Amino acid sequence: MPDLEALAAELEGIKLETHPSLVKQKSRDFFWYSPVLKRQLDHVTGDIVATPKSEADVSRVLATCFRHDVAVTVRGAGTGNYGQAMPLAGGLVLNLAEMTAVKSIEPGLVVTEPGAIIADIDRQTRADSGQELRMHPSTHRTASIGGFVAGGSGGIGSVRWGGLRDLGNIVRAKVMTMEAEPRTFDLVGEDIHKVSHAYGTNGVITELAMPLTAAYDWVDVIVGFEALSTASAFADMIANEDGILTKEVAVVAAPAGHDYFLRHQHFIGAQQHVVVMLVAPFALDAVASLVGRARGALLFRSDRVAESERATLPPAYELTWNHTTLRALRVDPTVTYLQVLYPYPDHLAKVAALADRFGDEVITHLEFVRFDGTVTCFGLPLVRFTSEDRLEEIVAIHEAEGCPVFNPHRYTLEEGGMKRTDEVQLDFKRGSDPKGLLNPGKMVAWDDPDFDLSQKKTWLFPGLQR
Ligand code: FAD
Repeated sequence: MPDLEALAAELEGIKLETHPSLVKQKSRDFFWYSPVLKRQLDHVTGDIVATPKSEADVSRVLATCFRHDVAVTVRGAGTGNYGQAMPLAGGLVLNLAEMTAVKSIEPGLVVTEPGAIIADIDRQTRADSGQELRMHPSTHRTASIGGFVAGGSGGIGSVRWGGLRDLGNIVRAKVMTMEAEPRTFDLVGEDIHKVSHAYGTNGVITELAMPLTAAYDWVDVIVGFEALSTASAFADMIANEDGILTKEVAVVAAPAGHDYFLRHQHFIGAQQHVVVMLVAPFALDAVASLVGRARGALLFRSDRVAESERATLPPAYELTWNHTTLRALRVDPTVTYLQVLYPYPDHLAKVAALADRFGDEVITHLEFVRFDGTVTCFGLPLVRFTSEDRLEEIVAIHEAEGCPVFNPHRYTLEEGGMKRTDEVQLDFKRGSDPKGLLNPGKMVAWDDPDFDLSQKKTWLFPGLQR
C-alpha cells in the first residue's frame, strides 16, 4: 500500500481523488462483458486517482510515483473491454480526461491531446475544414483518442482504411517515460507499434497526430435478408464495390437485429438477418440498385425518416462492433462474445460453416474490414454463455476451423492475441519503464518471462491476489 499522504502532499496542485468508491469507479472499464474477467477482476481498484491538466502535470505524477514505487495505470475514458485500464496492482490511476485540447488541424492531419473524446475531435475537424478521422470505435461519443490508440484496434472506417495496426493510420505519438526524470520523445512509422495497443504498459501517450479524410453526412442504411448467407454475400459485395463509399458494413444474424436493436426494432422482422451500413450520400442510389439485385429489403434509411423520429434513434454505428454486444447484454445478460478473424479468401464459407455448427448458441455478427490489403470479415459473434469450459471449447473450434480468435476473455496483451511481446517490445519497456510500474500485470513477457503461452493455460497475475 503506497503512502498516500506523502504522495498527495508531493502532488499538491494536481486534482486528486482518494474516496474509495470514486477511486473504484475510475478503476473500472467494460471488463464485465466477459464472465471470465468479471470473476477475476471485479474486486480490482486503485488507491488514488490523479487528473492532470498538462504534460508538465503528467511528468510530475510519473516522477513522484517513480520515487515512491507506486504503480500507474493510465485511463482515457475507461471503455476498454478487457480490463486494460484496471489497476491490477492498485496504485495510481492517471486519468487523462482533462487533457482534451485539439492543438492543430491541417489538410489530412490533426494533432491532439490524448484525453480528447473522439466525437469532439471530429466535430472540430469538420467545422474547421470538412474533415474527419479515418476511423473510430463504435464508442465514438465516449472514448478518448489516446485510449483508442493504446487499447483499441479499429472500427467504423476500417472497411475503407484497415485498422490502427496498419502503417499510416497513426502518424505520430509523443510518449512520456516512467523514470526519475520522465523524458518525452516522438515515435513515427513502425516505431509507433511499440505503444499502440500496448495498454499503456510502456509509456504515457501525451500527444497524437492522426490522419484525416473527407467528412460526409453519412446515411445509416439497414437492409434485411431471409438467409444469412445472402446477407453475408451482399455485405461482402458492397464492401468490395470500388465505386461505392461506405464507412461501415456489418452483418447481424437473426434474431439479434430484431431482439436487441430495441429502438430500431419496428423496422426489422424477427427472422431477418440485417446488414447495417454507413453510406456516403452520393452512393445511395448505387447501393439501392445492389439491394434490388440481391433481393434484399431496404428496411431503414436515416435520410428518409422524419427528423423527430431520427432524434430518438441511436446512430447506426452504435448497432455495430461492440455496441452489438452491449445491446444484446442489455436484453439478455447471459450473452457474451468472441473476436474472430475469418481469413480471406474463403471467409464466407468459414462463416457459414461455423454458423451451421453452433446454431443458436453462437449468433453471427460480422464486421467487414480491409485486412492486409483485401476486404475480409472480422466477427464479434454473440455467444450464449453456459460455462467457461464451453466458452474455451467454442474458441478452440473456431481456431480448428482456421479462424484465429483474439480472446476478449483475457486481460493480458499476449493472451488477447492482438500483440506479440518480442525483444523489441521488451527492450523498449526496459528503457521507458525500468521499474515495471506502468499497468503491471498486463504484459506476461515482462512479469513472468518463463510462462509458456503455447500451453494455452490462463496466466494469473500474482499481484491480483493482494
Ligand atoms: P481506456 O479504456 O481508458 O484505455 C484503454 C487502454 O489504453 C488502457 O490499457 C489504458 O491504460 C490505455 N491508455 C489510455 N490512454 C492512454 C494514453 N494516453 N497513453 C498510454 N496508454 C493509454 N474498440 C475498438 O477498437 N473498436 C470498436 O468499435 C469498439 N467498440 C466498442 C463498443 C463498446 C460498447 C465498448 C464498451 C467498447 C468498444 N471498444 C471498441 C473498446 C473501447 O471502447 C475502445 O478501444 C476505446 O477506444 C478505448 O478508449 P478509452 O478512452 O475508453 O480507453
